[in-house]
Amino acid sequence: MATIVQKFGGTSVGTPERIQRVAARAVRAHRAGNRVVVVVSAMSGETNRLLSLAGQISQAPHHREIDVLVSSGEQVSIGLVALACCELGVEARSFLGSQVRITTDDAHGMARIRDIDADSVVAALDRGEIVVVAGFQGVNEDGQITTLGRGGSDLSAVAMAAALKADVCEIYTDVDGIYTTDPRVVADARKIDRITFHEMLELASLGAKVLQTRSVEFAMKYEVPLHVRSSFDESEGSWVVPEEEGMEGAVVTGVAFDRNTAKLTVLGVPDVPGTVADLLFPLGEAGINVDVIIQNTAIDGRTDVTFTVSQTEMERAVALAQVVANRLGASGIVADAHVAKVSVVGAGMRSEAGVAVAMFRHLGQANVNIQLISTSEIKISCIIDEKFTELAVRVLHEAFRLHEAPAA
Ligand code: ADP
Ligand code: ASP
Ligand code: MG
Repeated sequence: MATIVQKFGGTSVGTPERIQRVAARAVRAHRAGNRVVVVVSAMSGETNRLLSLAGQISQAPHHREIDVLVSSGEQVSIGLVALACCELGVEARSFLGSQVRITTDDAHGMARIRDIDADSVVAALDRGEIVVVAGFQGVNEDGQITTLGRGGSDLSAVAMAAALKADVCEIYTDVDGIYTTDPRVVADARKIDRITFHEMLELASLGAKVLQTRSVEFAMKYEVPLHVRSSFDESEGSWVVPEEEGMEGAVVTGVAFDRNTAKLTVLGVPDVPGTVADLLFPLGEAGINVDVIIQNTAIDGRTDVTFTVSQTEMERAVALAQVVANRLGASGIVADAHVAKVSVVGAGMRSEAGVAVAMFRHLGQANVNIQLISTSEIKISCIIDEKFTELAVRVLHEAFRLHEAPAA
């Protein structure tokens, strides 16, 4: 008897009809003799709707109350999916994060899973029921509802799969797999049959939202077999797999982009030891992630420090950096919300020189100016003007011939 975790995203449970199709799929897997755990997101648009309601009431809402509010979307979905399974003649039981119980730390809105005590889920499976778990939510030691960050139902599914030692974690979504880039941006993007955890982790963290970054991290750590596939048909999707012996990684596997990027430059920072740490420390304390960081050569004992943060955190970052800039006697801060990060990812880059230069040349030929560059072992990212995002993605996809199947 196999244990299967099936996760359905917002679009896949967006209407009562789609919920019935989700239930039908779960029931099919159950009747085929599997132990089935379904993890669901809120119906499409619901999490945004709830957040916007909060925004109309409060400018600085308490994180605890936001989690109470937004976690309700998933509560609706599990109730409906469980009802739909029962209608099809199979006993099903819904579980909130607190009922499973999925224990997290206290970081409301971005909580980390600490532990899953799945005894009651296992008992339900032993009774022959389909288990329907609310994605995106957990509970801290205190019993407070927490949420796992946007897209966090992917993480809930992977974590349940790890806790139950499931045979597979299937991520059902509105595309039929992982593509060389977002198929909504590049029409001839190609579906990737097998991608390594490392490559998928880079793609996700660089903006490919088909899988939430932490879910990939978690799946890699606990070796959860991950299958991303369509909730609308039966086609084989994409498998995320460990690096295999002799697996000849393509030089470039995919292109990712992130419009939720903003650039800050602190001008005229005194060029003495410790200033960059002073500048960035309060941002880290406030939970703001600083991404690309560049410091220029000093002229007359002063330098400019440029870094990126997510657009949604730009205002907070400016306010915090301004305090330190004033204290250090820097000459000012310039912020630009209209930038994007475009990245190419590929495990084969480790052994192949020249990918960076090719990327820069192709962007240059398309008249896309590069503002900042950052590289790691298997990726190269460029910060560019946001309005050229789609152009840059198309140019790079074409330049690295990603629409063509790699040579066998
Ligand atoms: P769900 O609600 O099912 O979790 P998401 O909207 O979070 O779905 O993720 C699926 C979306 O991810 C797709 O509709 C697609 O536009 C986008 N996407 C971005 N990059 C990629 C990629 N490389 N491969 C496939 N989809 C991608
Ligand atoms: N409903 C949550 C969100 O919109 C979680 C998810 O969809 O994975 O972010
Ligand atoms: Mg998602």
